[in-house]
Amino acid sequence: MGSNPQRFHVMFFPFMGHGHMIPTLDMANLLSSRGAKSTIVTTPLNSKILQKHIDTFKNLNPSLEMEIQILDFPCVQLGLPEGCENLDFLTLNNNDDREVMILKFFLSTSFFKDQLEKLLETTRPDCLIADMFFPWATKAAEKFNVPRVVFHGFGYFPLCFEYCIKLHKPHKRVASNCEPFVIPDLPGNIVMTQEQINDRDEGTEIGKFMMEVTESEVKSSGVVVNSFYELEPDYADFYKSVVAKRAWNIGPLSVLNRGFEEKAERGKKASVDEVECLKWLDSKEPNSVVYVSFGSVANFKNEQLIEIAAGLEASSKNFIWVVRKNKAGDNEEWLPEGMEERTKGRGMIIRGWAPQVLILDHQATGGFVTHCGWNSLLEGVAAGVPMVTWPVGAEQFYNEKLVTQVLRTGVTVEAKREVKGLGDRISRETVDKAVREVLAGEEAEERRKRAKNLAENANAAVEEGGSSFNDLNSFIEEFSS
Ligand code: UDP
Repeated sequence: MGSNPQRFHVMFFPFMGHGHMIPTLDMANLLSSRGAKSTIVTTPLNSKILQKHIDTFKNLNPSLEMEIQILDFPCVQLGLPEGCENLDFLTLNNNDDREVMILKFFLSTSFFKDQLEKLLETTRPDCLIADMFFPWATKAAEKFNVPRVVFHGFGYFPLCFEYCIKLHKPHKRVASNCEPFVIPDLPGNIVMTQEQINDRDEGTEIGKFMMEVTESEVKSSGVVVNSFYELEPDYADFYKSVVAKRAWNIGPLSVLNRGFEEKAERGKKASVDEVECLKWLDSKEPNSVVYVSFGSVANFKNEQLIEIAAGLEASSKNFIWVVRKNKAGDNEEWLPEGMEERTKGRGMIIRGWAPQVLILDHQATGGFVTHCGWNSLLEGVAAGVPMVTWPVGAEQFYNEKLVTQVLRTGVTVEAKREVKGLGDRISRETVDKAVREVLAGEEAEERRKRAKNLAENANAAVEEGGSSFNDLNSFIEEFSS
């Protein structure tokens, strides 16, 4: 089908990290499969990653209108390492502080502003869905009368949580950092401790940046949420009525990828042969394998990885463990000697990138040890897999509470703090216990039933007439008219 000037045109501008680019691609694919034209704005290196996926989508559905617009991102000139166009490509020199470099990466993206304005001026899309981390996008879009919609990449629960924390600052009123308190106003009597709160001081550079993010959201035309109503109805309602933002829940986006190819190729090329991986899973009993992954950003120290390895070995359970280490010359000090040999047949270590959705969707996978990144959480929910929750940063500590306190589909390892360098070590005994508990402990059956029920709701939400399907209709109606 040729280009149609009347087609509803949505421009997407994802933050350059896999956790943001993957759901954006799914969103663009979704909108295009409903007749829209989708343009994804990104940098030269990221465009190569995205183009591969777009080609796959188009092979499966030739009528899709999806394209990429490339913006310049001169890394070295911006003080970043050469080629650092994605958080995943951030390499550090010995003197670099990871946190400082990550902040620099975030702030450097304001370089896009002028280029985006030019693009908006010439293309005039019906709507711009820009990442939360591009706060300047609201004003840029306003100049050309293009409605700017925000994409955070996470669900209603963490959004409402952050709102209540910012408003009431309950963590400032406790005597110690481990004293439990209830989040005021937030439905569900959610209990937290100060050390799990991610409140940036407004005087710091990151604090100021986050203020800009909030302000630009208030002025935006609304928010698209990768979630479905039945997952978090109290929080969806709270967000719309109390936080008072227009919001459309259109997820879970991952379930739109139904075929092997789409599932296998999410994000990066997997570091394992997907067919072999599936064959391995085929050889295991249903619900007998635990999948262990901490997303695309978290980096554990060797000491922590050793504890994970020892815990998995001690559990005697089947496992697939993804370790974000695949550099040439890594002498694998994170792997206890002989562990891989001793667990041969029941354990698989993937060094690098795993075909996560393929693994989660396999019937042999019965538990998911996760850092509670929103995409992973939702992928686990959509697959009906109970979780071991192990947050390491950002809003992940809030997401954990959704899983353990609201949905009751998870076992926590009780990770306590957001420590620079991920220093809060979880012992091998805790890993061993949590893995056994999630797969076959006393409450495992009940937990699994609840998880399966949620998965049914997740899949129904995106079907015709489902809650997310209908919300997407409202979104299209709103912005195409
Ligand atoms: N992912 C994957 N393979 C991996 C690691 C991550 O496919 O080995 C995908 C995962 O399925 C999810 C995304 O990368 O879609 C990670 O996003 P999430 O929000 O869970 O965490 P983040 O990486 O942003 O911390």
